[in-house]
Amino acid sequence: MSGARTAPEFLPLHPQSNRQFHELHAADLSADLQRCDKEFNESLEQIIDCADPNTNDLVQTLSKTYERMNQERLANAKLIKKIDILKKDYKLESDKCEPISLENWDSYCNGERRAPSLVDMFTKMKEPRATLPQEGNTSTIKLFKIFPYLWEDPTCVLPDLTKSGNEKRSNPDDDDELQIEGGTIELVCPITCKPYENPLISTKCGHVFDKEGIVNYLRGHSSRDCPQGACGKIVTLRDFVPDKVMALRCKIAKIHKQREIHNKEENLDTL
Ligand SMILES: [Zn+2]
Repeated sequence: MSGARTAPEFLPLHPQSNRQFHELHAADLSADLQRCDKEFNESLEQIIDCADPNTNDLVQTLSKTYERMNQERLANAKLIKKIDILKKDYKLESDKCEPISLENWDSYCNGERRAPSLVDMFTKMKEPRATLPQEGNTSTIKLFKIFPYLWEDPTCVLPDLTKSGNEKRSNPDDDDELQIEGGTIELVCPITCKPYENPLISTKCGHVFDKEGIVNYLRGHSSRDCPQGACGKIVTLRDFVPDKVMALRCKIAKIHKQREIHNKEENLDTL
């Protein structure tokens, strides 16, 4: 025999390996990321509740970390997609090859026949497009994004966010700068005429009421006209979900008020 024969580097997928091949997939991190989402939300609340002069800076730092986590989320979504496409492409290429036999073994060894390489195919692949999932994290992204504006003025109008409780309309990554319109948002429930305690937003029309008010209004009715004049939508209690943006507005407004009182007291002291 002349020289040692080397085994071929790549061989077509063996039919008996099909099952293992199909089990190949990228780890899905979405459950872990969802837990992180929850923790980010809780941290945001804790920072706001502490309400010290650094609140805005702390929220910005947290927001940047959150952004990084979302990049990971996107990378994970892409990898999952990439592996799926890779498997299909590889299987197609591999199926074009003649199954290994004693007769063709030599031709695989000397390179006459070539089987595809999974690794090569992976490195040559284009990055697939992936978008962040809409549910779950969108509201957290938004809360971070709108925070500096609300911190400045909790009653300011954020047109892209406050018109509707349905958050699917706008992709928060599209607009870097939020358009602030004139006008102010009332932080008082139109039913109870008191500041919001548990603001709920209608997913049907985006109108906000305090829980106490809307529960009383709908008591004894399975559905009723939305209490906001001229709305005209028929609503049920099931249409209402917690309005995190309004809750944030109210929290910040409270902090502003306390600060005002504190400043007044200090001014009186110095007089
Ligand atoms: Zn309404």
